[in-house]
Amino acid sequence: MHRQYLTNPTDSTSIANIASNKSDTIIDYSSDARAFNANTNFDTSTADPIFIVDSGASHHMVADKKLLTSLQSIPTKQVVIGDGSRLECKQQGDLQLGKLLLHGVLVVPGLDRNLISVGNTPHTTKWEFDKHGATLRNNNNGDNLLTAHLRAGLYSVKASQLAFALTASTADLLHDWHLRLGHLNVKDVMRLSRAGRIEGLSQVSGKDVNDFICNSCILGKGKRLPAPSIPIDNRSQQPLSIVHIDLWGPATTPSIGGCRYFLTCYDDCTRKIHLSFLKQKSDAFTAMMTYIARVERQLSCKVKSIRSDNGGEFNSAAWNTYMQSRGIEHVKVPPAAHAQNGRVERVHLTILNGV
Ligand SMILES: [Zn+2]
Repeated sequence: MHRQYLTNPTDSTSIANIASNKSDTIIDYSSDARAFNANTNFDTSTADPIFIVDSGASHHMVADKKLLTSLQSIPTKQVVIGDGSRLECKQQGDLQLGKLLLHGVLVVPGLDRNLISVGNTPHTTKWEFDKHGATLRNNNNGDNLLTAHLRAGLYSVKASQLAFALTASTADLLHDWHLRLGHLNVKDVMRLSRAGRIEGLSQVSGKDVNDFICNSCILGKGKRLPAPSIPIDNRSQQPLSIVHIDLWGPATTPSIGGCRYFLTCYDDCTRKIHLSFLKQKSDAFTAMMTYIARVERQLSCKVKSIRSDNGGEFNSAAWNTYMQSRGIEHVKVPPAAHAQNGRVERVHLTILNGV
C-alpha cells in the first residue's frame, strides 16, 4: 500500500504540514517513514549515511549538520517523530547529493533517518518509481540525478555511492565495472545496476553508455574494416558467380572423427555457407572439387569465380590445372589483406564464436 502512496506523491496529505510564521512550528515527520519505524536502524551520522526518499515528509531533513553546507540559524521548529515525541530544529542548510543540490534542508538532531522529501525536490525534476527503486531525473535533459534502491520497504540512497560518484567521473566508474565483470557489455552492466545488483552507477547517464569506449574490447573483438575502394553493395546477383573460400585450422584438439581443419565455401549471392571438415590441409583440394560438383549440379549453374587468400593450399599445380580446365577464375587476395576477403573471414568468426 505504501508503494501506491509513493507512486502518487502529490496525493500525500501530510506534505508541508507546517504552520508559518510561528517560532514553535510543528512539522510532521513523515507518514512513510513512520509506518516503517520498526525497520532496521539507519545510520544518520556515520561516515556512510543513508537517505530515505519519502513522499510523506514535509521537508528534507538530516540528523547531522556536518552533511550540510551554507548552514544558517532559523527560528526553532519542532518535528514530530514516529513515537509521537518532538525534536527541535534550529538550523537549515544545503545538501549536495551527487548532482542534486537541495536547499532548505533541516537539521534535526536525534532524527533516526535522513529524509529526502519527494514534494520538495526542485520543480525542474521528476521522480520515476518502479519495483527496483526510485529515480530522480532532470526534466529538461532526462539526466539521472539520484537513484534510490528499494530496501526493506524503503527507497534508500547510500551517501557513499554519491560521494564515490563525486570523486570519480561516471564514465570511469562504468569502465571499472565493465572491467570487473570481464568486459561485459555496458548495457548489461547498467541492467545490473538498475536491478540493484551493483552499486555506484546511479549517476551514469544514457550518454555515458552510448559514448562508452573500451580500447581492449576494440582491439580484441574488432576486425579491420572492408577495403574502402569496394562499393558497399557489390554483392553478386547470380548464384555461384563468386564463391569465397577459406581454410581454417589446425585446431589444437581434433574432432572425434580426427579432423583438425575446416574449409568454408561461401556463395556471395545466396550467402549459403558450406563447411567441409578435413583431417589435413591437403584434403582441401578434394573437398573443393566435391563442393563445386555438388552445387553446380544442384543449382544448374556454374561456379565462375573463386576468391581466397593466397594460402599454399589453393596454389598447387593440380589446383591451377583444375581451375583452368573448368574456366574458373581464381582471385587471390594477398594474405595480409584480409579486408579484401572479408566476407568469408567474417563467416569464420561467426562459426568460431559459436563453438
Ligand atoms: Zn572492454
